[in-house]
Amino acid sequence: MAKTLVIGAGGVASVAVHKMAQNSEIFPEFMIASRTKSKCDALAKRLEGMGSKIETAEVDADSLEQLVKLIRQYQPKLVLNLALPYQDLTIMDACLECGVHYVDTANYEPKDTAKFEYKWQWAYQDKFKEAGLTALLGSGFDPGVTGVFSAYAQKHQFDSIRQIDILDCNGGDHGYPFATNFNPEINIREVSANGRYWEHGKFIETQPMEIKRTYEFEEVGEKDMYLLYHEELESLAKNIKGIERIRFFMTFGESYLRHLNCLINVGMTSIKPIEFQGQEIIPLQFLQAVLPDPSSLGPRTKGKTNIGCIFQGEKDGQEKVYRLFNICDHEEAFKETGAQAVSYTTGVPAMIGAAMVLTGKWQEPGVFNVEEFDPDPFMEMLNKNGLPWQEDFEPVLVP
Ligand code: NDP
Repeated sequence: MAKTLVIGAGGVASVAVHKMAQNSEIFPEFMIASRTKSKCDALAKRLEGMGSKIETAEVDADSLEQLVKLIRQYQPKLVLNLALPYQDLTIMDACLECGVHYVDTANYEPKDTAKFEYKWQWAYQDKFKEAGLTALLGSGFDPGVTGVFSAYAQKHQFDSIRQIDILDCNGGDHGYPFATNFNPEINIREVSANGRYWEHGKFIETQPMEIKRTYEFEEVGEKDMYLLYHEELESLAKNIKGIERIRFFMTFGESYLRHLNCLINVGMTSIKPIEFQGQEIIPLQFLQAVLPDPSSLGPRTKGKTNIGCIFQGEKDGQEKVYRLFNICDHEEAFKETGAQAVSYTTGVPAMIGAAMVLTGKWQEPGVFNVEEFDPDPFMEMLNKNGLPWQEDFEPVLVP
């Protein structure tokens, strides 16, 4: 029976392992390994009696040696990387060394620059091909489901897609004036970076939060949203043939933005090390230490997320618009898994990506983004695993 090794035991992992245990015919045995073993043990305890055989271990995923030792010992068929983007390359190296498949939810980022690019991971193409192994990149919601939605629209709804707008709306309220819904360091690096969108073959750069729009989201209401760079823009620009423009918008509340701007202005979001009382610290890491832990937001968060894509293009010689989206309820996600909807909407597709590779539906030698595979079995699993999708054939467009 195929075994899976999950690395990381944070918010996203807590949902993914829950969903794996619910699909124990695909995941009969798995191990949760992370830097803090007590978190892995707590997760395993919650899943007792659900049908999968679960083990736990401590591992520092920055250490190739430790990873290789653990993988050789446990002998999984696949590693599901739910640690942080900094660990992607070490874990990919360990998978190659041990001959196992690889799945993650976020592209590699070097610690010292907030750069979101696939180039480092795409460079592993030949190595994975030669080893006969699959590396599936970005199997969360965005990136992840947004890529699967794009592949589905391309396959079933359009002859050619000219424009994609990805809209990520979180209408959840956790009651804190400022907190991030996933790892604060990664989240703040992402939103405080310059914006970028793809148009006519190149990226156009904007100031952070320079482009603002409003949109009426079903079951959430009207929200302000801001253009950000997001990593799937790079892979979709490469993989959706004939695409002319792709933009990504995320909603932010007024309180979040006010606090974030203040933190940026006083230098608290900097990733440049500074000297403090004889010790070197990174301001953003210090900020993370004083902010609420995202995994503690679950019991407090009310409201819904509404994330999806609006497509414009052509079908049978006619102009066509089409929207695919999912609505996820924070409180229901918490009731089921003990985590809020941002972790839920990432953890479910992470489990599905792993299932696609393990079952051989998406298993080809090389490094792939989700939109390069057949979207149908993934879309089917979304419906069955708590993230049902909806279609709109007359969506309101974003100006
Ligand atoms: P958390 O911070 O909650 O969890 C990260 C986990 O990784 C923790 O258990 C942490 O251990 C562990 N970890 C960190 N460094 C190491 C290391 N060197 N060795 C072993 N374990 C380590 O993050 P999230 O669960 O919110 O996010 C997980 C991933 O999901 C991130 O890469 C994030 O970017 C991605 N993501 C993707 C989304 C998508 O839609 N595609 C959306 C949201 C997140 P410890 O407990 O000791 O700190």
